[in-house]
Amino acid sequence: MYNIVLFGPPGAGKGTQSEKLIKKYGLTHLSTGDLFRKHLGEGTELGISAKKYMNEGHLVPDEVVIGMVEDKINETKNMTHGYIFDGFPRTTAQARALDQMLAIHKLTISGMIALDVPQEILKSRIKERGKTSNRMDDQDEVKINVRINVYLDETLPVADYYNVQGKLTTINGVGEIEQIFDSITSVIDSY
Ligand code: ADP
Repeated sequence: MYNIVLFGPPGAGKGTQSEKLIKKYGLTHLSTGDLFRKHLGEGTELGISAKKYMNEGHLVPDEVVIGMVEDKINETKNMTHGYIFDGFPRTTAQARALDQMLAIHKLTISGMIALDVPQEILKSRIKERGKTSNRMDDQDEVKINVRINVYLDETLPVADYYNVQGKLTTINGVGEIEQIFDSITSVIDSY
């Protein structure tokens, strides 16, 4: 069983690589961004409470995110070979909560794989995606900058959290999708 945290700033390519990884390893993709967008689309209470944070590029409060992840793990734990966590944990409080959730099921994080991409490339990728994604947070420079700053202030410390446990591997996230995928799979195959 692999439980992998795929880490990186907005626009790093986590979603693209996750899709390929779930196919290769039969893992469950647990993307908090996708789950929130689903709730938003369905107009659930959770979606309504997350909307104002998401549309401005801010983080949804930890307790809301953690509860949603816990539900997803409980629903899927008996029918999966493991998880790709994408966009979660995004704060150290979320990382601690994830460790506790997994411990209840006698599971642990195998490792964190961080995709390294320079800021200028991130911005152009997000703007390009914004043409088709229908995401309000992809549409303008101000929101994109908020997301990158939130990442630097609140999310980057999560890499240290796994680094001190000896679980962090950073790989180059610029290049061909296949080449990046190969780098990720060689890390996973070494777990
Ligand atoms: P990206 O990685 O492209 O920025 P995501 O799809 O992962 O986007 O997330 C979109 C938005 O959903 C975030 O900007 C945030 O508002 C909310 N969100 C997703 N995951 C989390 C999380 N773990 N904690 C708090 N907010 C989250």
